[in-house]
Amino acid sequence: MKILIVEDEIKTGDYLKQGLSEAGFVVDIARDGMDGLHLAVTGDYDLLVLDVMLPGLNGWQVLETLRRGGREMPVLFLTARDHVEDRVKGLELGADDYLVKPFAFSELLARVRTLLRRGKSGTEATVLRAADLELDLLRRRVTRAGRRIELTAKEFALLELLLRRQGEVLPRSLIASQVWDMNFDSDTNVIEVAMRRLRGKVDDDFEPRLIRTVRGMGYVLEVPDCA
Ligand code: CA
Repeated sequence: MKILIVEDEIKTGDYLKQGLSEAGFVVDIARDGMDGLHLAVTGDYDLLVLDVMLPGLNGWQVLETLRRGGREMPVLFLTARDHVEDRVKGLELGADDYLVKPFAFSELLARVRTLLRRGKSGTEATVLRAADLELDLLRRRVTRAGRRIELTAKEFALLELLLRRQGEVLPRSLIASQVWDMNFDSDTNVIEVAMRRLRGKVDDDFEPRLIRTVRGMGYVLEVPDCA
């Protein structure tokens, strides 16, 4: 799942980005309101972490513009000001939750997970499946044939993408931008290496094989017809 952080304080932003990345999310960061709004509109984010006091547009203006444009992704506000009217204003504008700085990262992570669960309820599955492979988005757990499989954050994100787009051949450039947040560079074999590790964990000891390389095109996860 993809999260956008809009935060002008460098240290706080970097700290959040690192923590959320380690928790398995793909994270982008914007340092002011204009950039934040632009990314929020053009990127495909599941959730926004939005600071209130920002240069350019403030957090409220960003949120207001997003909601007016029909963007419904959950928004978690960060505010340094513990005033009732601030919270009320944020919630009235369509924020889903807020945290008062300073906060513990574990608290932020708990709120983020709650918002994602709420946002998905009824509309989208939180467990992705193919044959006997299961990926639980909220518990961050993968099993195959009932056996627990330990994945790194990147492997998890990679498998999530493959499962969400099951049956579709995904080009390396798309995988690079969705999982590594980078533009595809033909010199790097980072995707191949991660894919090999992932297949080693979820496919090598099982039948049928679910992940396939489509030469010259990319990768696909699908349950073979003969299965
Ligand atoms: Ca700020």
